[in-house]
Amino acid sequence: MKKSDQPYEWAVSFIRSMYGESGFIPLHRPVFDGNERQYLVDCIDSNFVSSVGAKVTEFEQQIADFTGARFAVATVNGTAALHIALQLAGVKRNDEVISQALTFIATCNALSYTGAHPVFVDVDQDTMGMSPDALENFLRTHAEIRNGEAWNKTTGRRIAACVPMHTFGLPCRIEAIAAICAEWGIALVEDAAESLGSYVGSRHTGTFGAFGSFSFNGNKIITTGGGGMIVTNDETLAKRAKHITTTAKIPHPFEFVHDEIGYNYRLPNLNAALGCAQMERLPWMLQIKQAIAEQYSAFFQRMNVRMATVLPGCKANNWLNAIVLDDKAERDAFLAYTNDQGVMTRPIWRLMTELEMFRNCQHDGLENSRWLEQRVVNIPSSVPDNPEKLMQV
Ligand SMILES: *Cc1c(COP(=O)(O)O)cnc(C)c1O
Repeated sequence: MKKSDQPYEWAVSFIRSMYGESGFIPLHRPVFDGNERQYLVDCIDSNFVSSVGAKVTEFEQQIADFTGARFAVATVNGTAALHIALQLAGVKRNDEVISQALTFIATCNALSYTGAHPVFVDVDQDTMGMSPDALENFLRTHAEIRNGEAWNKTTGRRIAACVPMHTFGLPCRIEAIAAICAEWGIALVEDAAESLGSYVGSRHTGTFGAFGSFSFNGNKIITTGGGGMIVTNDETLAKRAKHITTTAKIPHPFEFVHDEIGYNYRLPNLNAALGCAQMERLPWMLQIKQAIAEQYSAFFQRMNVRMATVLPGCKANNWLNAIVLDDKAERDAFLAYTNDQGVMTRPIWRLMTELEMFRNCQHDGLENSRWLEQRVVNIPSSVPDNPEKLMQV
């Protein structure tokens, strides 16, 4: 890469030409060009804007249909979805949950709400998601099976669940991870918050374990303002999920009877209305995002910059495109220049083990996680104002 006074002008001008914009270019902005307005108005006119209403059920059915999961339960955000998925997967106070240190904080927050302790294994460099080899090595070194459950010999705690994450919508090696979890009696819960529209073969991410969870925050591929979804193939667990996310109220014509401590995690009807309209546009969005990813990929290849790529046989939703720079100095210079020029770019997350709350958690050295942490940058990935133009190039 050439070093001059403006070393990354080539990147800024390419991004500007793709978006056809001279002003600020955000990392990811939502698109509301379908029935969003109409469904919101319908919702307000019906008076059902809050915890009761038909849009929630409709949105749940859309997600179930789209992902191929048998059941979907809407929640107030993706963190809440993951929290409940873990609780229903059997995670209890003082258990351990294996996850990746290279993830957004919500993964670790959710597992901490159950009272469990996170343990971190490394990611693969290509997928940026949990490495099945690292998981297997960790278990072989530190765990043993007692009565069909995995126990950590080093810490003396039960390993109740494993939470891999599909980073930026790139599917991780989830089939291998699922096989290892099954062998060790560990519940698999997929954090699919970033991977709506991503597949391994013909199977949608989030459907490989006991539960998957999705997020519809404002920066995700589709948004409900704030929102989340739990998916599962188990009818009993789906009913439990609905029950405890809606205050654990026993149905009754007028009495308030609750049979356990529940949560007010239900998605308001207003947000679900937005979700229904967004789901109608998702296949179109995925096409545009594919076109953006292809243009970036061709461009950065010419410029000799590595880009995150999808595994053979998998399909990514291309939520956020990511480049891999040579080292931390290059990364920092790229971030400073692009952001200064009004082109929003962001580094990948700090490793969870760098944060005060998770500093003392057990981990396996996290070699690839550290390598990626120093080099990966997300670049603008929204649907442009004139997507038709993009599709013609
Ligand atoms: C967005 C996200 C979540 C959930 O976030 P919410 O803002 O609570 O919807 C969880 N995990 C990951 C990796 C995410 O990116």
